[in-house]
Amino acid sequence: MTGPLLAIRGVTAYYGAIAALKGVDVDVASGEIVTLIGANGAGKSTLMMTIFGSPPARDGSIVFDGQDITRTPTHEIARLKIAQSPEGRRIFGRMTVTENLQMGAAVTKFAHYDEDLRRVFDIFPRLKERAGQRGGTLSGGEQQMLAIGRALMSRPRLLMLDEPSLGLAPLIAKQIFGVVDELNRTEGLTVFLVEQNAYHALKLAHRGYVMVNGRITMSGAGRELLERPEVRAAYLEGG
Ligand code: ATP
Repeated sequence: MTGPLLAIRGVTAYYGAIAALKGVDVDVASGEIVTLIGANGAGKSTLMMTIFGSPPARDGSIVFDGQDITRTPTHEIARLKIAQSPEGRRIFGRMTVTENLQMGAAVTKFAHYDEDLRRVFDIFPRLKERAGQRGGTLSGGEQQMLAIGRALMSRPRLLMLDEPSLGLAPLIAKQIFGVVDELNRTEGLTVFLVEQNAYHALKLAHRGYVMVNGRITMSGAGRELLERPEVRAAYLEGG
């Protein structure tokens, strides 16, 4: 395959009559970390959801690994090994940590379950300590680890993270970003990251995009975007 792993072209999406995405172009190449930043309500989460088919793209195309998935049903997209850790984490509160991780392994039909569970526990030792504890009783940071761990259990070719640092103490958020960075460096994991925490998310990223009101207004190398005065003024407190 040549070209990006994920290619989003001219995508629009609507909630009723309201356009949430107004012609979005985003590329994610294999092995990259790509960050999308934008204010509350810019449409970042909608883009992630539209990749998964709901709300569907009305115009444009979404191509993953050369395959047009614009109109592919959500459950088939997971089978293509696109995994997501959604905003708000959506872990199963009544299930234990291990049971939550099992849910992630369903995509691979538990083919490498033991190995993958060991790997997730190596990455997040805290989850190992809490293996028998119910998801709902974990701290916010632990729940985020669990959501990422669950996504990793599916051996994703593309990991999409929606605001992994939301509501976390700065030190915990830094740890989470550190893990993402490490997985990318050591395993070449491809990551599409949506964040309001622009500083860390762009620092980490090979490339970044800025979304304003359903449109991409800027793109560039992560660190280069961080240097731009208009990005600093809008997305980094104190400029
Ligand atoms: P946040 O960081 O707050 O999640 P966001 O950039 O992810 O913001 P979206 O959640 O994608 O933004 O929202 C984009 C726009 O679509 C907003 O104007 C929002 O109010 C609207 N919207 C989101 N979800 C729905 C929905 N289920 N029904 C109607 N409008 C919606």
